[in-house]
Amino acid sequence: MVNQLALGVDLGGTNVRAAVVDRESGVVTATVKGVHTDKSPEAVVASIARATDEATKLAGVVGRLSCGVAVAGQLRGDVVSVAPNLGWREVPFGLLLAAKLGRPVAVVNDLKAAAWGEFRVGAAREETDTFTCFVGSGIGGATIASGRLVLGARGVAGEIGHVKVKFEGGRLCGCGEYGCIEAYAGGVNLAAWMAESGLEGGAAELEVQAHAGNVEALRLWDFASSSLALVVANQVTALNPGMVVLGGGVLMRCPKLYERIVKTIETRALAASRVGLKIAFAALGDDSGVVGAAMLGSELQSRG
Ligand SMILES: [Zn+2]
Repeated sequence: MVNQLALGVDLGGTNVRAAVVDRESGVVTATVKGVHTDKSPEAVVASIARATDEATKLAGVVGRLSCGVAVAGQLRGDVVSVAPNLGWREVPFGLLLAAKLGRPVAVVNDLKAAAWGEFRVGAAREETDTFTCFVGSGIGGATIASGRLVLGARGVAGEIGHVKVKFEGGRLCGCGEYGCIEAYAGGVNLAAWMAESGLEGGAAELEVQAHAGNVEALRLWDFASSSLALVVANQVTALNPGMVVLGGGVLMRCPKLYERIVKTIETRALAASRVGLKIAFAALGDDSGVVGAAMLGSELQSRG
């Protein structure tokens, strides 16, 4: 009998969240958080194993559940080729997880998982074509076209955080390249840029200072927000989604940034591409990653 439940894991730079999720409804029946100060692949895998064990015990699960692990990074199959916030390069993550957990594990990109969660049971459940962009410590994106997740020829389609906003050079991004939008508007990089410019705090503080008349704050906020807004609007022109799903901690805390993205889509995306377009905030909140990872994991594994 196929178990109705599935395990989803959302792996961040410093914490991990494991949840037992109903595969059809997306309802989370148990959730466990863990923290990993040691970011070595072995320590992170051990932390995931602890969290998934606890979550399955908490849910009273008997038998083995399929498992999907969402990671913020570029993947090549189940190898993490680049994960800036973990400092990983070329980590055979799927193999390490399978060895530790004693079962096959589907490794998925965090934004693809979040987009899938929102598409299956969240804000976009009535849609067939969506573009999802989350702005948190980093910036990620994913596209669903005709009900299918767009992976790209090498699995890295939708890496909107690494779209360039400078013709040449620019600020260094965690991916190792220069001039990416994430290097300006991603939460971690934006806070670093603020510190270099003599400003305190992070994205939410910047927004407040910029609108209170601080000239330096306005310079940073204006470049970061206008560039990000144009990048998202241009995706609408290129992809013609039925819905844009926006989410992530920075967008949650920065209403003016959110507003600017929405306004820019409404005025700068090609008119024909925004006919009937809906724009929504992610409905699953913090859960979109774990829910999507669980669903994507079970779907990928049942397909073999
Ligand atoms: Zn980058």
